Amino acid sequence: MNDQPGDAAQGGKDGAGEGHGCRDLRQWLTHLSATERLALANPGLGLRHELAAVAKRLENERAVLFPSPDQHAVPVVANLLADRGWIAESLGVGQDQLLPRYQQAVRAPLPWTEVAAGPVQEVVHREVDIARQLPVPTHNELDSGPYIAAGLMIARNPENGIQNVSIHRCQISGPDRIGVLLLPRHTFAYAEMAERRGQALEIAIVIGIDPASLLASQAIVPLDYDEMTIAGALHGAPVEMVKCTSNEVRVPARAEIVLEGRVLPGESEPEGPFGEFPQYYGRRADRHVIQIDAITHRQRPIFHTIVGGGVEHLLLGGVPREATLLEALQRNFPCVRDVHLSRGGVCRYHLVVQVERPQPGQAKNVLMGAFAGHYDVKQVVVVDDDVDIHNADEVDWAVATRFQADRDLVVVAGSQGSKLDPTTDGGVGAKMGLDATVPAGADEFDFTRIRVPGEAELDLEGVLDGDGAAAAIADIIGTASDGETSA
Ligand code: MN
Repeated sequence: MNDQPGDAAQGGKDGAGEGHGCRDLRQWLTHLSATERLALANPGLGLRHELAAVAKRLENERAVLFPSPDQHAVPVVANLLADRGWIAESLGVGQDQLLPRYQQAVRAPLPWTEVAAGPVQEVVHREVDIARQLPVPTHNELDSGPYIAAGLMIARNPENGIQNVSIHRCQISGPDRIGVLLLPRHTFAYAEMAERRGQALEIAIVIGIDPASLLASQAIVPLDYDEMTIAGALHGAPVEMVKCTSNEVRVPARAEIVLEGRVLPGESEPEGPFGEFPQYYGRRADRHVIQIDAITHRQRPIFHTIVGGGVEHLLLGGVPREATLLEALQRNFPCVRDVHLSRGGVCRYHLVVQVERPQPGQAKNVLMGAFAGHYDVKQVVVVDDDVDIHNADEVDWAVATRFQADRDLVVVAGSQGSKLDPTTDGGVGAKMGLDATVPAGADEFDFTRIRVPGEAELDLEGVLDGDGAAAAIADIIGTASDGETSA
């Protein structure tokens, strides 16, 4: 019932019954609650590790709401997205349409509109004390302390005013100071531009937002491509944005909480360690510093957190990357049908590509195209279109029965990889490609998959005896309850 592509724009009257059309966090939480996927924790659980422990135990099945964590007035929510099905649902499509829907939104973004006021500014704090005003959890064992882990960082290009949206780990370093890791991408580029002008970079950290906006923030798009316009396309309606109270940054009017601030030029302070997506810690080092000038929020805000390295962290980065990699591969290789970044490969490093009738040798070209698609990609397996790429056992089977290492393995040494992969040398490592497609010119019978006719179409309930089965079974196998044989 949820497989109508492009239906998200309608939203429909069934808002609570359907996930699509969720424009803010509360609509999504209402939907999860109505479908018994929002757990409620006891009041007063600890912000240090205890909250994250509960979230992790539930991460594959339910979102969870924590009232008054450490007696804090503001509740915390975690696990907004537990699997790909939830993500597809939040966009109003079936899982098979998840990547096409995202690709479509990136191709046809919808600009946001500015509004004069919004719920996110119902309360304004000019005196900032982050830890007192917000319930910021500490997640993993060796994390340096509390982190804002699910904040959309919106930064403004100081030269042309175009906004960038991304998520960065934000360490609470003081009452109004945040230590932030800016990898050399878009926020970093804007910070450098500002620094060259001797200015601070105006930013806002937005907490408590709908799944589409979270996904949009993770798009792999060029510099000066405002990711919030992808959120608008995913919603099927422009996002309403409101100007910050202390700077020029525009933020989603229906968010829960906004921290307004500036990346300070020429300043750095220690940040980290922090538990990251590879299931290891990112190290402590001198990093950028953000001065927070104001905090605004709704009357009774909800604070969203993402446990570092948890399922939500992996999926949020994974799905937009899949869409980007699929788009790039399909431009060059019409045989490419689908891609998947596996959970075991931390939704970043291990890619599976599904192809239909590749030309002789083309699977190896696809491998090379995939290596170039994103530097994080470390291992690529190319399989035929009879293999379910979302099922790790099926992919393993394809490698087991269609791959020979001397013929089908491609290794590229000394290429750019992920700096968070501890086996790389400062981010430089090897790529490995496995061509697990049926070899060109192979005898068709040798690669004919066994199957039992009728298995897939069978109405199983229709052929099984439900009522009185136990008595009939006892009669057949001769173990009646009186202990005697029936003979
Ligand atoms: Mn960007």
